[in-house]
This record gives sequence, structure tokens and C-alpha cells, in this order.
Amino acid sequence: MYVCPNCGQNLKFDIARQMMHCDYCDTVMDPYAITEKRGVTEYVEPTYTEETGPDGETKVVSPNAEFTEAANVEMMEVTSYICPQCGGEIVGDTNEAMVFCSYCGASTPLNPRMTNMRRPEMIIPFSKTKQDCATSYVSLLKKALFAPKELKDPKQISGFRAIYMPYWLYDFKKQGPATYKGEHCYHRGNYDYTDHYSITTSVDMEYDGVNYDASSSFSDTLSQAISPYDTKYARPFTTAFMSGFYADTMDVSAEVYEKQAKKLVSDHAADILAANQKSSAYTIKKDTVSNSLTPITKNKTLAMMPVWFMSYQTRDKKGNPRVLYAVVNGQTGKTAADLPVDVKKFLIGSLILALPLFLIFNLILNIPPLYLAITGTVISLICLVSLTSQAGKIAEREMGADDAGQESVATNKKQRKEALKRRKAWEVKDVKRVNRPFYIIPIVICAFLLLLKPDYDYWYYAGVIISGICDCFMMTDIMRRYNKLVTRPLPQFNRKGGDDSAEELKHS
Ligand SMILES: [Zn+2]
Ligand SMILES: [Zn+2]
Repeated sequence: MYVCPNCGQNLKFDIARQMMHCDYCDTVMDPYAITEKRGVTEYVEPTYTEETGPDGETKVVSPNAEFTEAANVEMMEVTSYICPQCGGEIVGDTNEAMVFCSYCGASTPLNPRMTNMRRPEMIIPFSKTKQDCATSYVSLLKKALFAPKELKDPKQISGFRAIYMPYWLYDFKKQGPATYKGEHCYHRGNYDYTDHYSITTSVDMEYDGVNYDASSSFSDTLSQAISPYDTKYARPFTTAFMSGFYADTMDVSAEVYEKQAKKLVSDHAADILAANQKSSAYTIKKDTVSNSLTPITKNKTLAMMPVWFMSYQTRDKKGNPRVLYAVVNGQTGKTAADLPVDVKKFLIGSLILALPLFLIFNLILNIPPLYLAITGTVISLICLVSLTSQAGKIAEREMGADDAGQESVATNKKQRKEALKRRKAWEVKDVKRVNRPFYIIPIVICAFLLLLKPDYDYWYYAGVIISGICDCFMMTDIMRRYNKLVTRPLPQFNRKGGDDSAEELKHS
């Protein structure tokens, strides 16, 4: 806790002011003016060193000597809360009691404990207030027509919590020659000729602040959905920014995403190079360029990024608890949410849309009953295919395999193999569950109609109605399964608390 020099109350970081603020006496202070030594708050007037970058922009490099000294401390002591239900860990520098868990949505009071956490080097302070966050979220929901109305409940929206998420920032560089392949095809006489080139060029490229989340609890799908962060505005870390906020701890090592980040950078550079080469006579081979542009890592920096985080508990058809997340980028306001479909709302909506369509088609077109039956069957087939194709994706999500960070934490090589086996088994079972004999009925009916070609039109109409009913059931199933895909099973983290290096520190 940071003590207000004026009244002794708690100084918190105020997003709107971008300054430390005391709610009681209105004192405003620079975040870099405060340091804490052995629980005693000290105040130092910060002296800023500014550096002008190549783009002519000035950037604060180091706030003051006092601060730089603090930055050399690799570990810092924090108050952490571990959820008894899911094992999720959140660090909080607030005076309020923690009454719910952001990861599983459980509302049980969480007990604080002191722990060590690796000190981040940089931070992007929150610049979007809770009000901004609510506005972005509400406008996202406006577009989600079939979302359950509980998600729009103001009580839900007030559950957004400001959490600093740990991220790895990678700085990459490549200088010197790069060799790749190109070719030139032409036609002369009766022959096609291809000339192969080996092209060597000199590159000088630099990418700073390519970022990936370093918490296994924060889903990659969500962090990617609200990316990017503009790391140009990252500032040297000081704990003052965390006063009044929550944070997650780093538990994914920097190596996990390094390869992926390098690939992203070399692909991007290859695109630029390929675009520059368009006017020349030869075309270049994209993959060879990308490989030749693989950079070296200059820096790996641990940074804190602002995320407004909300979780919502729901239940599936069988009554098993599921959890949904909504997140808002605390710097840019970009919003992402798991948005399920309210099946009842969806069916009523489709019906309202289908009735006028049906009337219009019936008035304008005179479709022979046989074609109607065939159309019905085609729709059934499409439903069946999409039902089956969801299985793989759901299995990945259910087993946490779509998150490289989560996978890296939970498993060694042997465990990973077992997880893959489990996933495949789950998938096979799931496909079997989907292909209920019931769903074959429309196809069987259509086959009969085609084979027997009955004279009475009513047979066709009866067939169409029956397959229509089957389609409705399948649609409901597709929606239910879609909901399974956008919601998540309750998380189960097996985290030791803090990170591994913190454990080591305790033992030494
Ligand atoms: Zn005060
Ligand atoms: Zn929990």
C-alpha cells in the first residue's frame, strides 16, 4: 500500500489522471515519485531523462536513479490470492477483500498470502477506464443478436476487473546478407522455360515489442483477439502503477512463444520484400525468403499489459458449469467475448425469418415437390457435416490444446502424448454421439421418394415436413455445440504460485 503523504490513506493509480491519486484528500502525485522500501513509502521528485527516437518522438527513458536501482531487484513481494476451486492465482494490490475468482467465476472469499513474483521490466498503464470498458462491451453485445440477455445485465458488467497480464516482449534483429530463391518463367517456340535464380540481398531489419501473453490462465484465443498492444507506450515498471489493481503472474517461459514470434516477423518481412520485388522480372519463392529472414533475438522483456477481465458462469444442458470470458484491451479498448447463442432466441428468430421467405418462394416460384424434398435433404446433409466438423475444435478447446502457454505448463513430453491420445478418444466419442441414427432419417426418406416416385404429392410434402423437423433438431444441436465451443470448461490450474524462479529464490 502506498501511503498518501497528506492524509495517510491509500494512494492509487488513477486511470483518467494517469497519476497517483488519493480519494480522500485529492492529492495527486507522479507514479515515479513514490518508492517503497521495507514497507515504508518514500517520496522522491522524479528527474526524467528523455531520448529522441529516430521518428523524432521523445520518449521517457528512465524516471530517476532511485527507480533504476529498484528495477535491478529481480523479485518483488506481492499479496497473492489462490482460488480454492480452480487454483487460479491473482495478485492484488488493493485493500478490498477479494470475493470472487476472475478465472472460474466462483464467489468465495479468497485468502491472501505473501509470495514472490518476478519483477516485470516494463508496463503499459491502463488508459481505458471502467466506463470506457463497459461502453466497448455493450457495443459489442449490440451486434450479438442471439446472445443471452443475462450477459447484458449491468451487474455482470460491473464484474469487470482491471488485471495486468504478464506478456513477453521480443525484440528481433537481422542484419547482413539473406539468400533466397527466385524464378522466371517464359515461353519460346514450343517450349516453356524456367530460369532459377539464387538472390542475395542485404537486409537491415528490426522489430521491437512483438508480444505474447505469459500467463497459462489467460487463453491465447482471447489475448490474440484483443492484440496488439502498442509497446511504444510501455514505460519502465514501478509497482505504483499496480496500486489499486490486480495482476496475473508469469508462468510461461519466454522460449514457449519465441519460435512463433520469429516466424511472424520473418513472414511479415518476406511480405514486404516480395511486394518490393513485384516490378522485377522474376518471382520469388515466399517460403525460402521467410526462412532466410529468420531474425536473432535481441531482447526478451517481461512486461505488464492492461486487460479488463470479466467471467460469467453458466451451465450446459446437463447442468455442468461452464465459464465465459469477456476481455477489453486496457490500452486500445479492443473487445472480445465468448458469446453463446440463446437457443430459444435463435429458433424464434429463424422462424420469424423463415415464414415470410417461405411465403415469397411459394408465391413466386412453383417448386416441384420432388425438388423440395431434395433441397430438404441437402440442408440436412450440410447440418450433419457441420455437426461432425465441430468435434475436433471442441476437443482442442476442452483439453486446452489451443493454448501453447497452457500446454507448456501442464505437460512434459510424455504427458503431452497422453493428452493427445485423450483428445483423439474424446473426438471419436463425440463424432459417434453426433451421428445419431435419427439424423439419417431425412436422407432415407429422400432416397425412398426418389426410388418409388409416388404419384401423390402429399407423400413428398410429408417427407419434406419430417426432414424439416429433423433439420430443426439438428440446428438446435449445432447451436448447443457451438455454445460448447465458445464457453469453456471450468479451469483447473496446477500452479505452484508465483513462478518457478520464485520457488528457487525461496530455497536459496
Ligand atoms: Zn490523502
Ligand atoms: Zn477460480
